[in-house]
Amino acid sequence: METTVENIRLYNTLTRRKEKFEPIEKGTVRMYTCGPTVWDFAHIGNFRSFVFEDLLRRWLKYRGFKVVQVMNITDVDDRTIAASRKQGIPLDEHTGRYIKAFFEDIAALNLERAEHYPRATGNIPEMVTLIKKLIEKGYAYKGEDGSIYYDISKFKNYGELSKFKVEQLQAGARVKVDEYDKAEARDFALWKAWTEDEGNVFWETEIGKGRPGWHIECSAMSMKYLGETLDIHTGGVDNMFPHHENEIAQSEAVTGRKFVNCWVHCEHLLVEGKRMAKRFGNYYTLRDLTKLGHDPLVVRYLLLSTHYRQQFNFTFEGLNAAKNAIDRLRNFTRRLSYTDGSSSKGKAKHLAEHFKSEFTEAMDDDVNVGSALAALFEFVREVNNLIDVNSLSKEEAREIYDLIVGFDKVLGVIGEVKEEEKLPKEAEELILKREEARKAKDWKTADEIRTQLKNMGIIIEDTAQGMKWRMEKH
Ligand code: AMP
Ligand code: ZN
Repeated sequence: METTVENIRLYNTLTRRKEKFEPIEKGTVRMYTCGPTVWDFAHIGNFRSFVFEDLLRRWLKYRGFKVVQVMNITDVDDRTIAASRKQGIPLDEHTGRYIKAFFEDIAALNLERAEHYPRATGNIPEMVTLIKKLIEKGYAYKGEDGSIYYDISKFKNYGELSKFKVEQLQAGARVKVDEYDKAEARDFALWKAWTEDEGNVFWETEIGKGRPGWHIECSAMSMKYLGETLDIHTGGVDNMFPHHENEIAQSEAVTGRKFVNCWVHCEHLLVEGKRMAKRFGNYYTLRDLTKLGHDPLVVRYLLLSTHYRQQFNFTFEGLNAAKNAIDRLRNFTRRLSYTDGSSSKGKAKHLAEHFKSEFTEAMDDDVNVGSALAALFEFVREVNNLIDVNSLSKEEAREIYDLIVGFDKVLGVIGEVKEEEKLPKEAEELILKREEARKAKDWKTADEIRTQLKNMGIIIEDTAQGMKWRMEKH
């Protein structure tokens, strides 16, 4: 089946339906991603959301879109201030450490760079401008504590994203903290008047001495870089309320336009059924796992291989299964690079076409990576069968190699594959010698040679289809 870009469908949290994806400007996707709050190292739950967002971005690019992605850095909020105060160091010194760590981690996880990484502290005037407009339009007011609050009763669609009724709320009640539950929904702080608890974290502005609330940060940074209406806004499901609900209220009240066409939320990574979170103490950072010897690309594979709208539990068995999956792909690409058999007489081409359309259809269908990976491994199995019976020519192998490497631009898990990996001459001779020993039923010599090869990093397997070799290292 011929697939076209028009087939891309995404589940929009706003409508709770899968919808055909259409950007405002043909060919360009404007996408905003709530980035890390840099009070500490991100954990792999956070990275589940970031890796999914990277997969989405890569798929849109693969399908020919130009993607302009903005990922903000929350470097001033309740948590960053509390953590830097606890350490007794200035806010920017504290967040600077974790910003550096975040960029190291996303590089290790092979995340493509977003086009912009604005920091909240670099965009305070933009936030002040938005808050002033909200006051002018009657959506915001100053409380007796000097902080400025958003009056949610003024915004008729409040609660539309997270689906609750604003009439149930107590009029005039307020919340100053950044994070709170739906049951506590009430007027929230846009600007927090300075108190002694915040030390030297404040800005002297037209709307007073203080600092922004978390929610206004994302309204300001998204609209600054992407315009008043975004094609896609992403985040983890916990961001839906209050953060994204409040972003909509702020942005739409200012512009009078729809803020986001498609809201895409990634489900949580769990540990024994409970959301992975710092406050539950049930988390791993990427560093924890790499210290234990796990390859970051294996972590990437694990995080992206479950559909983003399904929760899943992190386990070490899962991590090992991810390692096996990547090893299979790496061995396969390596095997393709030295395959030189007779032609499959069109079979390989047919398999490749079938795989391509299955993979594409799956990914177009709300990034159904589970089905896409199933198609990939089925393809690997079938092509391996052809190679086993020496029925794949060098040219065919090259085409399949290019196809796999092309799809890995989307998955980003195989890593660099040395294209011309060949057996060293000595190894070739040893393999020949071993074959002779086996023919002569000299098992002892055959085993000795196998060990010699293993020491050279070459693994020999005797299968029903004959001897196979592979490199131990990637
Ligand atoms: P934060 O640094 O807390 O602002 O979170 C960064 C991103 O991680 C946000 O998109 C969160 O929604 C997301 N997130 C937090 N915990 C998890 C989790 N356990 N699984 C998936 N995403 C998460
Ligand atoms: Zn945000």
